[in-house]
Amino acid sequence: MSPRSAKRPASSAVEDYLEQILELINTKGYARVVDIAQRLSISQASVTNMVQKLDAEGLLKYEKYRGLVLTTAGEELARNITLRHQTLTDFLQLLGLDPQVIYHDVEGMEHHVSPATVHAIESLTSHLKRRPALLRSIRTGATPPRGRRTP
Ligand code: CA
Repeated sequence: MSPRSAKRPASSAVEDYLEQILELINTKGYARVVDIAQRLSISQASVTNMVQKLDAEGLLKYEKYRGLVLTTAGEELARNITLRHQTLTDFLQLLGLDPQVIYHDVEGMEHHVSPATVHAIESLTSHLKRRPALLRSIRTGATPPRGRRTP
């Protein structure tokens, strides 16, 4: 058994790092240790350790004075994580939940849902968007209206 198998799923921490790094690159054009530390509320020393580990795993390239860039593998993983975060957020928003609750719950859930579940939620979300009446009754916690019954 190889614990370092390439198919080994990324840990929650690795996922959160990649997610933040991609977001920094997308918004600022670059990601620095100091910015990642600030966003994740983690010390710069810990961030440096993690970044070196991610470099060793081939997910990014880290150069001490030039910041870091994601490799193709790192960027692909980061995009998947971001997409999953967005899919879960869209779904909970559709249910009319409080934004703070949504953020908190998505941060917890996103590391534990399989691609199959994310896909199913995505499908459910797009179906619900086309059924405003059903959606309204879900939001108010009411039973969906039934088809008119012939006595
Ligand atoms: Ca996250």
